[in-house]
Amino acid sequence: MSLLAVGTLAYDSIETVHERRENVLGGSATYFSLAACLYGGLALVGVVGDDFEARDVELLRSRGIDLQGLEVAPGKTFRWSGRYEADWNTRHTLATHLNVFEHFDPKVPMAHRSARFLFLANAAPAVQAKALAQAVRPEFTMLDTMNLWIEIAREELHHLLRRVDALILNDEEARMLTGERNLLRAAAKALTLGPRLIVLKKGEHGAFLISREARFALPSYPVEEVVDPTGAGDSFAGGFMGFLASQGNVEPGTLRRAMLHGTATASFCVEGFGVESLARASRAAVDARCAQILSLVSV
Ligand code: AMP
Repeated sequence: MSLLAVGTLAYDSIETVHERRENVLGGSATYFSLAACLYGGLALVGVVGDDFEARDVELLRSRGIDLQGLEVAPGKTFRWSGRYEADWNTRHTLATHLNVFEHFDPKVPMAHRSARFLFLANAAPAVQAKALAQAVRPEFTMLDTMNLWIEIAREELHHLLRRVDALILNDEEARMLTGERNLLRAAAKALTLGPRLIVLKKGEHGAFLISREARFALPSYPVEEVVDPTGAGDSFAGGFMGFLASQGNVEPGTLRRAMLHGTATASFCVEGFGVESLARASRAAVDARCAQILSLVSV
């Protein structure tokens, strides 16, 4: 397996202006894996409680996701609840219950320690650091994080940033992490913290790839109806990293095409509630959407 992901598996309660649903399958590693598996196999490391439904394990397994590193601990699965404003860009976290995740000590199976591509999905920086310490010289490591961790674990996060190749974050997180309002300045400052590549997600405005040498931007794919944006960032990361792992390199042209695939996978995610639409997407449909995005931006 060339791709390894570590992160949360969760039951989310989500409120949009149109509907509200309780305990739907979610979690950063779940969304990431369901997007990345469209590009080939991957291994997932995470923890769930004894309330985690067998059908949800089956969904992941049926997609070829290796679950050797999925631990079942006594107690409840991580739970998150959030509410979206009508503009979709404003999200309020209503509650985060770490549950079994609080004492999670990730164990990367021996067979996956030398994965070439590593994704540290949104999780407590201490958990991300433990997983990174078990990886044997990954060629490309990308880190994701969230406002909660920037607030409560900033020092651990800074330590981790010195050891990863890339950081993916949204505009609000970029401002929180760096104290800069302007996103280009925020990205430039983030580059001084360790990563050589920053992927800035700007919701419906698309995504920006920034390194010291290069800048590249793509708009998001204009979907006809957003149903639930939860997991869009993780699905973007899944398409991005899945594509890189499938190509086996991080050359500048490959990174640009990975941005395209991330944009396409995220667009499927927002068209359904929870993982429902992403889990139905096929690789052929993602490729077709990549072609549509290219035709939208070509002059
Ligand atoms: P996204 O919309 O891409 O930011 O991802 C939302 C997913 O992240 C939800 O399914 C949540 O279960 C999960 N999540 C929310 N808060 C956290 C957190 N603090 N750490 C890890 N995962 C989280």
